[in-house]
Amino acid sequence: MVQVRIAALLLIVITGLLALFPASGRTQSPGQSRANSGAIDPGTSLFAQSASQALDRDFLSDDISFLLLDAQTGAVLASRWDHPETPIPLGSLAKPFIALAYGERHEFKYPAHICHGTSTGCWRPRGHGAVDLTSAIAYSCNSYFRVLTANMTAAEVSPTATRFGLSSPAPGISGPALAGLGGHAAGNRSLANRALENQWLISPLKIARAYLELIRRRDEPGVRLILSGMEQSARQGTGAEVDRALPRSDALAKTGTAPCTHPRHAPGDGFTVVLAPAGQPKILLLVRVHGIPGAQAARTAGQMLRRIEP
Ligand SMILES: [Zn+2]
Repeated sequence: MVQVRIAALLLIVITGLLALFPASGRTQSPGQSRANSGAIDPGTSLFAQSASQALDRDFLSDDISFLLLDAQTGAVLASRWDHPETPIPLGSLAKPFIALAYGERHEFKYPAHICHGTSTGCWRPRGHGAVDLTSAIAYSCNSYFRVLTANMTAAEVSPTATRFGLSSPAPGISGPALAGLGGHAAGNRSLANRALENQWLISPLKIARAYLELIRRRDEPGVRLILSGMEQSARQGTGAEVDRALPRSDALAKTGTAPCTHPRHAPGDGFTVVLAPAGQPKILLLVRVHGIPGAQAARTAGQMLRRIEP
């Protein structure tokens, strides 16, 4: 009798434990397992196929490079980019991660700043006036990021870079150069190369996945401010051409301009990263357009997105 009771008790305890830890040893979410196996469900592959065809047909120019990623799994759905794993300067696309590195060391308290334009080192001659982190991201204010990076070293950026899957900036790089500022790409090739060496070089594929990681970490301190800056960018900031091209939805955008790395040399290349739709991104599109600023590359990114919107 006692043995039966003990057996029953054991059964209850085991059942309870099983209920508490269901399917232990198989803890991957469907998203994770899909990302790991590399398999894409049929609906996604159909979308990838038609997006790929549409982009190849309607955006044929040699000047345009792009990566289209599934925002949930990070899988590349379509691409046209020579060596997307080779690190290159990406200009202001690094700003969100620089801002997080700053936050890490300042309890995520960000300064307020008055941008006076040329005199405080901004690309916009008459300046942006009062800026906080969110508007500095939206309008890509260089003056704000000069203040944020004034005493920053590559070593300080390193932990944040690692957390977002980025390789760290080269040890010698410090200050505004970390945010893609300072080194000016002059017409002269050797000067341009020197400016190139003094930048945080990041591979296009890695920066695309780092922006997906921002979405996954949306509730972490600092990240929310950056994402709302990206939403503002697409609506009225340097990425405004993105929302303008989209009839039905909003997007998150970040633009950047960086020294050109094409064999056919131009002073700079424009970059735009777009996540859409803004509320719950399904896709990420990273676009580079040869020889124009980032705010203009945003127009191409918006048109591409409009063409393929799922
Ligand atoms: Zn500014």
